Amino acid sequence: MLTMRDVLQARRTIAGHLPPTPSWSYPLLDAAAGRRVVLKHENAQPTGAFKVRGALNLLAGTEAGDALVTYSTGNHARAIAYAAREYGRPATIVMPEHADEVKVRAVEALGAAVVRHGADMGEAERFAQTLPGRLVSPGDEPALIAGVATLYLELLERHPELDTLVVPVGSGTGAAGACLVAAAVAPGCRVIAVQSQAAPAAHDSWRAGSCVYRQNRTTIDGLATGRGFAGPQEILRAHLSDFVLLGDDAIGDARRLLARRAGTQAEGAGAAALAAVLARPELMGSAVGVVVTGANATELELAR
Ligand SMILES: *Cc1c(COP(=O)(O)O)cnc(C)c1O
Repeated sequence: MLTMRDVLQARRTIAGHLPPTPSWSYPLLDAAAGRRVVLKHENAQPTGAFKVRGALNLLAGTEAGDALVTYSTGNHARAIAYAAREYGRPATIVMPEHADEVKVRAVEALGAAVVRHGADMGEAERFAQTLPGRLVSPGDEPALIAGVATLYLELLERHPELDTLVVPVGSGTGAAGACLVAAAVAPGCRVIAVQSQAAPAAHDSWRAGSCVYRQNRTTIDGLATGRGFAGPQEILRAHLSDFVLLGDDAIGDARRLLARRAGTQAEGAGAAALAAVLARPELMGSAVGVVVTGANATELELAR
């Protein structure tokens, strides 16, 4: 079982590679939300998303000569590629055939090998299992959870007044990290998860109390998952206060609001937490921590 010791250790590891990200409020956004909203800018990470924290922590546990293999549509791929470069390890990333061209190039530019295979993540995963090397699951890796949890430690240390944290969910590592940290350092602070209703596997797993498979029809990459992951789900069952489902349109509106009122660029998943604050105000407290988890919109999404 993961504890705060693992999170503190991860923070020491990550500090050698990345500075803390900023977190602050924007009066126009507070006005739109009807409460104080503190944005945590993980969209300012060098890979454009928070997952790099988990990858750096995981790579710290590997040895020279270890080769990494994983599968992803985007941000997990880029995080593992970045961390593999930092630690001088070779990495092979399986990306589905339809993966966005710019996202593929971003991974290759970090020195990782990209193999395009499969119509969806399930097929990419099965192919990755046949490749030699240490297979990194995007969800069932305690080191990833401890690594991404460091962002919530930074946020709650800087803003102990927060009474609610809102976290977008794909595999659930980020929300599990938030739950671990909030329970340890801010027990009165509620953690609320959000997922797309077009890909509700983590939500339905949490409500059912066991991991389920669901169709994955969302257009939002960071939230696109077809199953619950056992490791994160166990932590969510112990600590999560609520789990919200939203339409992809509401998440797009929140992206525009972030651009207009906070001057910040988020991909869909990066705006989902704000979308939940706007859609479900009755669940929120008076000071809400909203993680802008990522910036990496596709060119098509940016044009829209
Ligand atoms: C991966 C990702 C998420 C979801 O995080 P999980 O830890 O997989 O639940 C949210 N936002 C962005 C930008 C992501 O890349």
